[in-house]
Amino acid sequence: MSPSKESTGGRPVALVTGGGTGLGLAISERLAADGHDLVIASRSDAHLAAGSERLRARGAEVLPVPTDVRHPDQVEAMIEATRNRYGRLDVLVNNAAGNFIAPAESISPNGWRAVVGIVLDGTFFCCRAAHPLLRAAPAPAIVNIVAAYAWLAGPGTAHSAAAKAGVLSLTRSLAVEWSGDGIRVNAVAPGPVRTEGTDRQLWLSEGLVQRIADGIPMRRFGTPEEIADAVAFLAGPQARYITGQVLAVDGGQWLGRGLMDLRDEVRERSVPGGAPSGRPRNPEG
Ligand code: NAP
Repeated sequence: MSPSKESTGGRPVALVTGGGTGLGLAISERLAADGHDLVIASRSDAHLAAGSERLRARGAEVLPVPTDVRHPDQVEAMIEATRNRYGRLDVLVNNAAGNFIAPAESISPNGWRAVVGIVLDGTFFCCRAAHPLLRAAPAPAIVNIVAAYAWLAGPGTAHSAAAKAGVLSLTRSLAVEWSGDGIRVNAVAPGPVRTEGTDRQLWLSEGLVQRIADGIPMRRFGTPEEIADAVAFLAGPQARYITGQVLAVDGGQWLGRGLMDLRDEVRERSVPGGAPSGRPRNPEG
């Protein structure tokens, strides 16, 4: 049973880390459209200013808080600023991340620490600091942004895959531990989506984009709005009995891995109408 919930006045409040750019901005826009006041937090004043301007242009109330989520003191200050401005927090979206493509053996200790620090440490620091405000909210929720390589391999992004796997594990542990506080904790695993950040760090050429799209069962990248819809669902009342889960929003990408690489060959070799009755066809025979 939840402890006594403080009576919280006003509109619900959502905090989105990395909320000034890319998927974080789309998530903030969607939560604002659903009636939330917003806190957006990241390192760059320029990102926060541009994101705030866009959100306010749509009529949202926004508090931008310069924060490096790797530093627990800055994260505590971010939550304190939220408390001072709004007096409540209903939804926390841990979206901030850093990433770059590199063979595992060439990732420097600093590069490793930077990615794991933002993604895994940052997510934990934000959850921990937000816990007192969240547990006082009427229907609190955390949504962590991961990626399918949290449970698959991440060749070329071993640091990010390890960090996202940690976040997925944290999602499940907190879901159980904090269920008594009424806090639901879930994750969204976006498939590939073009954003300024990923175009710079991951989707390094149009050829690569096309090859990745060809390997997705739905044959295209996702849009930021499609990811934001899933986050809003998990954060909202329609998901009130869902906790500790991960929702892949990826056009079937992770399910189709491997097999999709072979699909043209499979189609060429297939027998119209299926195999002869009762006799499995040996393609090599
Ligand atoms: P993005 O535009 O690069 O966004 C990353 C955000 O994180 C930026 O707003 C950045 O803002 C913030 N950030 C980075 N380091 C930070 C730090 N130390 N402290 C606080 N904020 C920090 O990337 P995106 O494509 O929107 O990705 C958003 C999320 O989706 C990430 O978790 C990513 O792993 C996940 N994802 C994306 C894709 C995709 O294809 N786009 C696929 C799977 C998963 P500042 O620079 O201002 O700090």
